[in-house]
Amino acid sequence: MKVRVDEDLCIGCGICENTAPEVFSLENGPVAEVIMDPVEAEFQETARQVAEDCPEEAIEVEDEVEIPADDETTTECFEETKVEESSLIFVSERKEGMKATVDPDLCIGCGICEGIVPEVFSLLNEPYAEVLLDPVPDEYQEATREAAEECPEEAIFITE
Ligand code: SF4
Ligand code: SF4
Repeated sequence: MKVRVDEDLCIGCGICENTAPEVFSLENGPVAEVIMDPVEAEFQETARQVAEDCPEEAIEVEDEVEIPADDETTTECFEETKVEESSLIFVSERKEGMKATVDPDLCIGCGICEGIVPEVFSLLNEPYAEVLLDPVPDEYQEATREAAEECPEEAIFITE
């Protein structure tokens, strides 16, 4: 399991650090930083609780799931998926539809994602891919998953 803090949303309130100082820290900046990656088993329940308690919903919890590239039903029943040829993505417990994010530190700006689904990804304004739609509408979700699988840097994270 991984947790991520959206720096644009975090207000530095410190709730996460107070509740789970092993996982979150504000020592180096005005926003929370994740200091345990991946989150060890004994801290996972607390980290999930912190994500729920964050007043800005700035924390995403991502469970590592292996998804067969050719299995379109995977996202609905991923717990039961048997892995054959697979790609690794992270699926969070977000309940409000699909969200796609791009890690700008990983993205090399190759444009593959934009080529697959330009309605969702764009390199128009930045050297890395930006996500245009949040949440991702139903009609673009399959293509967005494909873009995540095709990204050579595994820079795209899908949560739903
Ligand atoms: S609880 Fe949320 S808003 Fe507060 S410091 Fe942590 S991540 Fe930031
Ligand atoms: S496919 Fe991946 S590396 Fe290429 S632009 Fe999109 S996010 Fe960046």
